[in-house]
Amino acid sequence: EEVTERAAETIRTTCPYCGVGCGVLARPDGAGGLEIRGDRAHPANAGRLCSKGSALGETVGLEDRLLAPQIGGQEASWDAALDLVASKFRAAMTEHGPDAVAFYVSGQLLTEDYYVANKLMKGFIGSGNIDTNSRLCMASSVAGHRRAFGTDTVPGLYEDFDQAEVIVLVGSNLAWCHPVLYQRIAAARSANPALRVVVVDPRRTATCDLADLHLAIAPGADAALFNGLLAEIAAQGAVNRDYVSAHVSGFDAALEAARASDIALTGLPAADLAAFTRLWIGAEKVVTVYSQGVNQSSSGTDKVNAILNCHLATGRIGRPGMGPFSVTGQPNAMGGREVGGLATMLACHLDIENPDHRAAVQGFWASPAIAPGPGLKAVDMFRAVEAGQIKALWIICTNPAVSMPEADRVRAAIAGCDFVVVSDLTAQTDTARLADVVLPATGWGEKDGTVTNSERRISRQRAALPAPGQARADWQIMCDVAARMGWGDQFSYKSPAEIFREYAALSGLAGLLGRDFDISDFATISEEDYDTLAPFVWPQSGAKRGGRFFAEGHFYTPDRKARMLATPPRMPQSVLSAATPFRLNTGRVRDHWHTMTRTAKSPRLGAHMGEPYLEIHPADAARLGLGPATLAEVSNAQGRAILRVLESPRIAPGSVFAPMHWTGETAAAGRIDALVPAIVDPVSGQPESKGAAVQIAPFRAG
Ligand code: SF4
Repeated sequence: EEVTERAAETIRTTCPYCGVGCGVLARPDGAGGLEIRGDRAHPANAGRLCSKGSALGETVGLEDRLLAPQIGGQEASWDAALDLVASKFRAAMTEHGPDAVAFYVSGQLLTEDYYVANKLMKGFIGSGNIDTNSRLCMASSVAGHRRAFGTDTVPGLYEDFDQAEVIVLVGSNLAWCHPVLYQRIAAARSANPALRVVVVDPRRTATCDLADLHLAIAPGADAALFNGLLAEIAAQGAVNRDYVSAHVSGFDAALEAARASDIALTGLPAADLAAFTRLWIGAEKVVTVYSQGVNQSSSGTDKVNAILNCHLATGRIGRPGMGPFSVTGQPNAMGGREVGGLATMLACHLDIENPDHRAAVQGFWASPAIAPGPGLKAVDMFRAVEAGQIKALWIICTNPAVSMPEADRVRAAIAGCDFVVVSDLTAQTDTARLADVVLPATGWGEKDGTVTNSERRISRQRAALPAPGQARADWQIMCDVAARMGWGDQFSYKSPAEIFREYAALSGLAGLLGRDFDISDFATISEEDYDTLAPFVWPQSGAKRGGRFFAEGHFYTPDRKARMLATPPRMPQSVLSAATPFRLNTGRVRDHWHTMTRTAKSPRLGAHMGEPYLEIHPADAARLGLGPATLAEVSNAQGRAILRVLESPRIAPGSVFAPMHWTGETAAAGRIDALVPAIVDPVSGQPESKGAAVQIAPFRAG
């Protein structure tokens, strides 16, 4: 489909929701809105869009938009707001040191925004205290990749789904959360009826409609399942001995731990387990896809490594149609990982713990400082806010008062912080209402930059609409503050292309230091070429171009071998008791996104699930005296929510599910993360968002 972008006013851009990263054609409708179509030329979606993507045009209205800065709830000039932010951050640093300030950012940010935030905090303020809501999403995959491969490298490509013989989806409701990938698998099965799909999920989600085998695993038992698989791989002589001896370390210890692992933890019948191992071992081309059901766990990193172990033991990695595949939740979670937007990373996959890497980045930035090591991960960051150790906090494009575990406690911590800045589209989020200063940022449809999807494909987001009111791009706002803090020369970017060029040049340095991320061919890209940049998969430089990683069996560890790890299963840490006998699972619904800042504007999207709900097995509902569509009160020591009862045999007795999207000032509005305890994976720092123990009772007003 030929699109003359400017002439026809059709802008080729990228969806701002999930990590599939679909290409979108957006054309202004003349009334402030956008007409939306899928971009057939984009490799991620070939023209397909899901309900959220196709409703984007309904979400760009300005009804609740913040159009000017606010100080203390009153409209203020940009100069006054920026002066105040810069002076407060400077004062906190001077009086208490660089670790007394923090940024909490978002996988919604564009890569250029993320790059500037990371540079400002780690290179100029001199602290590692920048973390992101991606910590709640895929930090365990990052940590698992780094342990196994030496870098946070996603090996495969979406086209592997088209070529696979078996696709295993673990803790991943693709039909709702990555719908275009689900459609791609459905199309692959139409083309190849021999393709087999396995879904591993405690719930019988919509994704199971495509499943040949659904393993309704006990919540949290994924490592036990894949340990059992590894033991069977060995028992059935399916280990790829040549591959393991040439390219893998740690095999014996991993296998020993796998053999000691108790498969009964999965709660699965022997026949299902046998069917699973038969399918997985019997086909060479296996793709194992995983997302939040694996990541959002107190043992998430071990679960990731348990999956990677099976692929490494069989050498099923780095070749077409096979490999482990972590899909990211957010549109630019991957870009954030690439620029080092987490407290535990440096830019371009360099290691913050490595003094040589720190020195190289500081030299490249010509910066006065460099973070001496990792900063505070999300949960610890808000604990430090609560303790008064963080004196100035900048929250960018995210809503932690709703989305963090122990959300009531986080809300109180933010409210009690000396100085809080929020940059967002609106001043009406639960978090923005707590801020001293609110800064108007441009949003999707108005801003320019790049994002990276789950298969490492970098695509442009382009502006189709003018910035409303006084709104500015996030990178611009941060540069404006940096200049007022005395670093104007190093933050004098005039365009996102200029930031992208610097970032690409830094990636070349990372490439020289033996890292995987390298896009240095773009270090001199012109404004025009950046404007028309077509989607591409990294690496994209020198001999390393596109394609899969690890085809040649070389990894980024000191001995170039991948590491298998012992992953003894650890179950969810919240203990079920007589007082809290139900296991609470949380997640997304099909037609809403995060805390609904955007999707709530679309009546079409609101029609799918109009209010927060509690999915509960009919037998449990009957036992508790909960009728269909009545209200249930869900509670534990952390918080309380009032939710509409949705009886469903798709969920196992003893477990319940509630969506994460709903906000509000009171518990009754269904802020489910208020009930999630801030228990984290010890390696990744990712919270266990799917394992809370809760009590359920009929709601009685008053
Ligand atoms: Fe957007 Fe994801 Fe839907 Fe694609 S699948 S249109 S990226 S929400």
